Parts: sequence; C-alpha cells; structure tokens
Amino acid sequence: GVSKPPEIKGGRVRVTLRVRPQTRDEEESQAERAVEVEPETSSILLRRNQWDEDTHKFDAVFQEQSAQQRVYETVALPVVESVMKGYNGTIMAYGQTGTGKTFTLGHLGVLENGEQDPSLKGIMVRAVDTIFHEKEMDEEGDYKVQANFLQLYNEQVQDLWDTKTKDISITEDRQTGEVILEPKPASVDLKDSKHIVDLLQQGEKNRAVANHKLNAHSSRSHAVLIITVTRSQKVQQMGVPPTLHRGKLLLVDLAGSERQKSTGSSGQTLEEAKFINMSLTTLGKCINSLVDTSQGGHVPYRESKLTRLLKDSFGGSARTSLVVCVGPSSLYWHETSNTVKFGQRAI
Ligand code: ADP
Ligand code: MG
Repeated sequence: GVSKPPEIKGGRVRVTLRVRPQTRDEEESQAERAVEVEPETSSILLRRNQWDEDTHKFDAVFQEQSAQQRVYETVALPVVESVMKGYNGTIMAYGQTGTGKTFTLGHLGVLENGEQDPSLKGIMVRAVDTIFHEKEMDEEGDYKVQANFLQLYNEQVQDLWDTKTKDISITEDRQTGEVILEPKPASVDLKDSKHIVDLLQQGEKNRAVANHKLNAHSSRSHAVLIITVTRSQKVQQMGVPPTLHRGKLLLVDLAGSERQKSTGSSGQTLEEAKFINMSLTTLGKCINSLVDTSQGGHVPYRESKLTRLLKDSFGGSARTSLVVCVGPSSLYWHETSNTVKFGQRAI
C-alpha cells in the first residue's frame, strides 16, 4: 500500500526522515535492508519482505551519505531564522536508540581522538553558528543569546549545567502563555559558537554522573537545549521605544522510542518504561492535534512534562521540525516501522 502524501498545512510541522549508515555488525550479519530512500520523491520504501513493502512520503528524506550541512539547512535553518525574527520554535529528533538522534542534533564536530571535523557538526552547534553569524551581520541590533540545558527523566526536570538545582517545576504565565521554570535553571550568556561546544561537553559529563547515580541511561531521558535570542535596537531614536523581540529555540534529543519492556525485574525499569511511553505518546498526540485541526484544537500538553516544556514553542506561531531517525537494516524492522508511523502521523 501507499500511505497518504503530506498535505501542506501552514508548514507548522515539518517532518523529515534520516537513515544512518549500516554499522559494521549489520554489514557482517548480511541482514537485508529494510529501508530504501528515494530522494526524488521525498519518500522511503519500507520493506518487511519481498511481498510486504510500503512507500511513505515525508517533507524530505536523507540517505546514509547525507551531509550534516544539508540536513541542517533542510531541518533546522528555517526554524533558526524565524527564532532570529522573534518567533519560538522546536527541532526534535525521534527514533530508536542507536539510529542517529544525537549524531544529528548533538555532534560537536570533534572526533574521539580530539581532532576537529567541522563537517560533522550537528544541528545544535550549527544553530548557534547561524545565530552568531546573523548577529554579526545586523549592525542595528543588540543581541543577547542565552542558553539552558536540561534533562527530563522519569517526569523530572534536571539542570545539566547546575546539578545542584533540583526539582524544577514547569508552569505557565497565565497572561502571556510563556513557560516558566522554577527554580530557574542556570542560564548562560553565550559568547560565541565555540562556547556552546564547551558547555555541551560539560553538560554531557554532568548527565553521565547524574545518570550513574540514578542507575539510568541517557537513552532513557530527553535532553533539551534551550536558546533564547533577544534583540533590541542599538540606536534609540528620541521618543521611539527600542524594538525588542525575543525568540526561543528548543532543541530536543528525545529518549529512545523503542518499546520499553514494562515487565522488567526492577520497579525502576517499570517506572522508566511508563514515563517514556507516556511522554512520547503525549508528544505524538500533541503533534496530531496540531496537524489534524478536525480534532477541535485541543492539544493535550498537560499530560506530560515534555509537552508542558514545549508548550510555548510548539504550535501557534511557533515552527516545529521533527526529524525521525531510522537504521537501514531489517533486523529491527518492527521498531523502524513504528518510528515511520509516528512520523507519518505528524505530517
Ligand atoms: P542515538 O542518539 O539515536 O541513540 P547516535 O547518534 O548515538 O544514536 O548514533 C549511533 C551510532 O551511529 C553512533 O556511533 C553514531 O556516530 C553513528 N551514526 C549515526 N548517524 C550517523 C550518520 N548519519 N553518519 C555516520 N554515523 C552515524
Ligand atoms: Mg543519543
């Protein structure tokens, strides 16, 4: 069968799919390929076996050799540019653990041996590059670029830059609808795009320490980088108030979407499974009700911490971009199929 092609709905949720290269194990196992990318038609062929295959269309698809630069330009740049103009936006990576979410969003352009390879930089670093580039180009603007880095684990919000800040609650300003975090997470004034690389490295270290204490794995939590850009007019004319606008960008490396076994031996596994399933399911529901306006416009943000955090940067005038990540091999056809379905529901 052929799934329905996407309709353009104000461009509010852009859904793209990226396939990562085969790992050495996959090559050696000689497993069949389950995913064929067809860039000309922005679609993929998902094959279970020779009798069962489906075509699925996305806003764009990226094959194994796709460069980070191109992925950035398609998935993220339009959102980053609207943030520079004062809108909010969200860019998320969804998929099974090991399919390239962190590679796509969080690669720092640094190899394991410490050498730099800027061509590998992911969306987070490139977004900050763009912001500082545009700041330099704008002679009339004064900018403030601030960042927070959070982890959501078991419906708890943790600050990855100040591990002493605990139990951050999420509420909403009744008047403006702005999401409010209390206590406030560490907010860093970014100096330049190199600064974010150091900060993300520090955050990942803190994350590893925190997760070790909790006996948790990073793939079981969501990592959220928040970048706020505030622009004001440099030269103030007499009697004219300085234009001030603020845009907020959320970059979300979601927890692995693989089916969580809730039959695990420990209570912790059970809790984790419940919370991951809940937040990803709620995310899916929120995206569906944004895209499918026939549902009457109720968006169930309140049902998880993740969607409450996203609320003011998701829907409304905000731009949302979702990149679904899959592996190429038939070894995990089932998870790939679930991921593709999630993406199709968002289109
Ligand atoms: P996830 O965050 O979804 O669990 P990762 O981003 O950690 O997955 O990717 C798993 C492995 O695959 C890593 O070793 C990563 O470097 C590699 N990888 C993922 N996507 C790509 C890609 N597009 N090109 C090359 N290597 C990739
Ligand atoms: Mg990851």
